[in-house]
Amino acid sequence: CGIVGFAGKDHAKEKIIDGLKRLEYRGYDSAGIALPINGKIEIRKHVGEIKNLEKIIGDDGFDSSVGIGHTRWATHGVPSDVNAHPHANADDSIAIVHNGIIENYQEIKEWLIREKGVVFKSETDSEVIAHLIGVFYEGDLLKAVNKAVAEMRGAYAVCAIAAAEPDKIVAVRKDAPLVAGIGKGFNFIASDIPALLKYVRQVYLIENNETVVLTKDNITIYNERGQKVNRDVFHVTWDA
Ligand code: GLU
Repeated sequence: CGIVGFAGKDHAKEKIIDGLKRLEYRGYDSAGIALPINGKIEIRKHVGEIKNLEKIIGDDGFDSSVGIGHTRWATHGVPSDVNAHPHANADDSIAIVHNGIIENYQEIKEWLIREKGVVFKSETDSEVIAHLIGVFYEGDLLKAVNKAVAEMRGAYAVCAIAAAEPDKIVAVRKDAPLVAGIGKGFNFIASDIPALLKYVRQVYLIENNETVVLTKDNITIYNERGQKVNRDVFHVTWDA
């Protein structure tokens, strides 16, 4: 339903939570956030309001310079803590958030169980994305995301992070919105412009089948054939 990703110098958690709150008007049943911390990915997620998520996060040093967050509107699997996004692969080295539906998730799930011995934790269609990226990952998140996307049918906006590349977010979209927000020393990625307007006015509108690599200093957009795309900056003049 709602996606917010942030790459900057510090305090990713507060930017992501703020962005998710600005998307609350869209409706959701659960919320969560994933951050790379000390070579691992840590996830906090909770059913119900973002307030509940903030309560379980508390003040326990859960923060980072990069991270991804999600508000979920369940399509596959009941609203629950386990089914909330982000979803991780087996060893928590990859995490994803996903808007939309993966139509062939059952097929992918069976393949991952049979061929890769993957154990699934949730009932969502989205969890297959985390495991696919994990199975294809060889130190380059962009390549692994591209390989995963080649297996996926349906509608999606996906943001992924990898513990081994903690300064980076890779995002991709097909038939679900995605926008990158251009800051100074930080960048955002989100499903909807209102999530970003407190922090940025300059955005790139990501088009269908494009992949985005985001760090605090750069936003690089690639087309389906892996070529770099030069996108005009879109200036947002309205207020949310
Ligand atoms: N299909 C996914 C799920 O049910 C994502 C739903 C959404 O867009 O929030 O978990």
